[in-house]
Amino acid sequence: MQKILIANRGEIALRIVRACNELGIKTLAVYSEADVESLHVQLADEAICIGPAPSKESYLRVDRIISAAEIADVDAIHPGYGFLAENADFAEQCASSNIKFIGPSASVIRQMGDKAIAKSTVQKAGVRTVPGSDGPVETEAEALKAAKKVGYPVIIKAVAGGGGRGMRIAHNDISFAKEFHIARHEAEQVFGNGSVYIEHYIQNPRHIEFQILADHHGKILHLGERDCSIQRRHQKLIEEAPSPFVTPDLRKKMGRAAVKAASAAGYENAGTVEFLVDEKGDFFFIEMNTRIQVEHPVTEEVTDIDLIKKQIGIASGEHLQIDQKNIQFNRHAIECRINAEDPARNFAPSPGTIDLYYAPGGHGVRVDSHVYGGYTIPPYYDSMIGKLIAYGSERKTALSRMNRALNEYIIRGVKTTIPFHRAILRDPVFRSGNITTSYVQEFMSRASSDLF
Ligand code: ADP
Repeated sequence: MQKILIANRGEIALRIVRACNELGIKTLAVYSEADVESLHVQLADEAICIGPAPSKESYLRVDRIISAAEIADVDAIHPGYGFLAENADFAEQCASSNIKFIGPSASVIRQMGDKAIAKSTVQKAGVRTVPGSDGPVETEAEALKAAKKVGYPVIIKAVAGGGGRGMRIAHNDISFAKEFHIARHEAEQVFGNGSVYIEHYIQNPRHIEFQILADHHGKILHLGERDCSIQRRHQKLIEEAPSPFVTPDLRKKMGRAAVKAASAAGYENAGTVEFLVDEKGDFFFIEMNTRIQVEHPVTEEVTDIDLIKKQIGIASGEHLQIDQKNIQFNRHAIECRINAEDPARNFAPSPGTIDLYYAPGGHGVRVDSHVYGGYTIPPYYDSMIGKLIAYGSERKTALSRMNRALNEYIIRGVKTTIPFHRAILRDPVFRSGNITTSYVQEFMSRASSDLF
């Protein structure tokens, strides 16, 4: 591969530029008018402006991205995450324009992008899923019947959902009818597809996901788990690997199930199989993400495998040269998502100019970020400033490094989630590792907001 177009922005675009530079592959950045000053544009070999600031007029414009790819004569497109990363039509268009899409095939994206189809696909392969309706439910009567059968509380989920959106919880028949209609309406508005399905709502689970790599020659590996239980409104804030809950035995079982799920989907390239795990260690598939994840660096630091380079290698047709038994999980890594949000004001977005920026460093610290002093965070996109990753030989070391790095991090001019992360890192409950998806809510109810 000689040249790759990066169909994304922000820290992930920069991450891909870095991997390409190490591989000796040329990069083409595409950018919106709001991102002229962005680091990924400065550091790529070439850059083409594809439109005005709103994503719909730039980063989501398939026609303009394909034209840029043709003008610059690239071999492949890396979609990153978000934007067009899980858009099957985009993958199809790349293929028909003779450009490699760095990810799975359009048909796999389509199949796993519909959460109800994804569930039935892995179920058939013998992987346990969260008990729920058999596929989407159309009418209120059908939905209510499914909810009663599944047992309250239930969660109503959009088949096309993502990013923690499009989910409503109901505790009884009365709240169910209301939530069902809201869920359908929201799904239609946000995802352009009002189809929903029902799942039992598991109380206080852990969110544990497995990183998968699959080449074009039938080899599928898992790179261990990430514990992403630290979430606010179903969106991840802190991720770590390995999970403090997962024993070597459970890892083996879950890893096998994840590989089975990927194999059932006919998966190729990097992907993530997500499970909810109850306190007994029973685990249930919820969905598969057919792209690189925000939290991929924790797996990279634990396994010492560069996932972006592997994605590029796989797309080039290379064989995965590693065997499952050689993948080691000898380190512990943790990632905090640093967002331009004000935790003291209900995480309100805080775009603006960064007056002073100093990123932490030193042993065991990694910062993936596209910002710098003087950079203006545009209001049009997500609020992520970057990701702070700390790692060490054991959890305790990774935590003390994270604590130290959060204390060093200086970002002036905008509000950030750094003080919130600092407060969590000091919390004995978090430090104990006894965490579930309810942790953040519980922490916020007992912590004084002076802390952040
Ligand atoms: P998305 O694709 O929007 O991220 P997911 O299906 O991955 O949606 O779910 C996101 C989060 O929502 C999970 O990590 C978990 O916290 C919560 N969740 C989803 N399904 C259930 C369920 N059946 N029971 C309890 N919590 C759930």
